[in-house]
Amino acid sequence: MQLSEIYGAGKLGLSYELYPPKTEAGLEALFTHLKELVAFQPSYITCTYGAGGSVSNTTLDIVSRVHSEFGLPVGAHLTCVGLTKDDMRAYLADAQERGVDYIIALRGDPPKGQERFEAVAGGFAHANELVALIRNEFPRFGVVVAGYPETHPEAPNRQSDLDYLKQKVDAGADAVITQLFYDNSDFFRFRDRCVAMGIEVPIVPGILPVTSLTQIQRISSNCGANLPPELLSRLEAQADDPQGQFDVGVYHATRQVEELAHGGCAGIHFYVLNKSRAAATILRALTLSTKYAERR
Ligand SMILES: Cc1cc2nc3c(=O)[nH]c(=O)nc-3n(C[C@H](O)[C@H](O)[C@H](O)COP(=O)(O)OP(=O)(O)OC[C@H]3O[C@@H](n4cnc5c(N)ncnc54)[C@H](O)[C@@H]3O)c2cc1C
Repeated sequence: MQLSEIYGAGKLGLSYELYPPKTEAGLEALFTHLKELVAFQPSYITCTYGAGGSVSNTTLDIVSRVHSEFGLPVGAHLTCVGLTKDDMRAYLADAQERGVDYIIALRGDPPKGQERFEAVAGGFAHANELVALIRNEFPRFGVVVAGYPETHPEAPNRQSDLDYLKQKVDAGADAVITQLFYDNSDFFRFRDRCVAMGIEVPIVPGILPVTSLTQIQRISSNCGANLPPELLSRLEAQADDPQGQFDVGVYHATRQVEELAHGGCAGIHFYVLNKSRAAATILRALTLSTKYAERR
């Protein structure tokens, strides 16, 4: 199915993002959790590519298995980290062979211990170049790129980050999925700015439900996400109660998704972190919400 159909007028495309587990047990747990999430009828499922720069065919193994077990469309992430154009072509050819539908085309973060991103000889420095390669040589893939409601941490300013996002879309991206955020007004402002600049593809919010205080502190220091003081103080009030922290985080994400669905978003992308409990609790609550149900 084309991304334009998934995110078509009046629709609310639902997608989940997995990551490659390190162990066989982790892989089996992932599929057990995914079974529960598939009941909510996602439009497609994606798997990240070697965050931190390790070369990974596991991504394709996972999405192929998701496709064959659940019969759902799948997206494979690909970064430019440590790869030449020919390495990327080989990965894309393999993905095509295995029936992958979409590529989430990324530059990637600098590998551990390296401060700045450096393209390898014969590789790419920015995601827009990868998008162009896919469009020219693998035109059947739907292409998704990353967007940053709170601006990418390396960008010198907000406007240049938006200009580069537009460059990725102009290179042929079909949709944008955003970095996680906890304040919807950051997303809505970002979407308005994109629209004002002539970015016409769907801009899909990426949601990572907080499930613990330590998790949100780590995430926010890694990607610089703004934490609404109200969310933080509610989590802190549950400092001695892990279940209380989970409940606060899930409540916040449920309200976020309901408002985003009501605010005309084309879809919702859950960073499920290979677990079902948080996303399933949110989706179960939302099926009872008319604001959400009207869109699905
Ligand atoms: C939905 C989503 C999925 C992700 N999946 C993965 C994954 O699977 N694996 C992984 O390792 N990481 C993943 N990431 C993280 C991502 O790789 C990092 O955020 C990375 O730092 C930037 O990637 P990008 O594709 O946005 O890069 P780019 O779009 O290349 O942007 C990177 C920086 O360079 C600037 N820039 C862009 N183009 C140009 C240009 N032409 N000239 C000069 N400056 C430019 C931008 O403003 C930005 O500051 C994901 C992020 C998101 C939001």
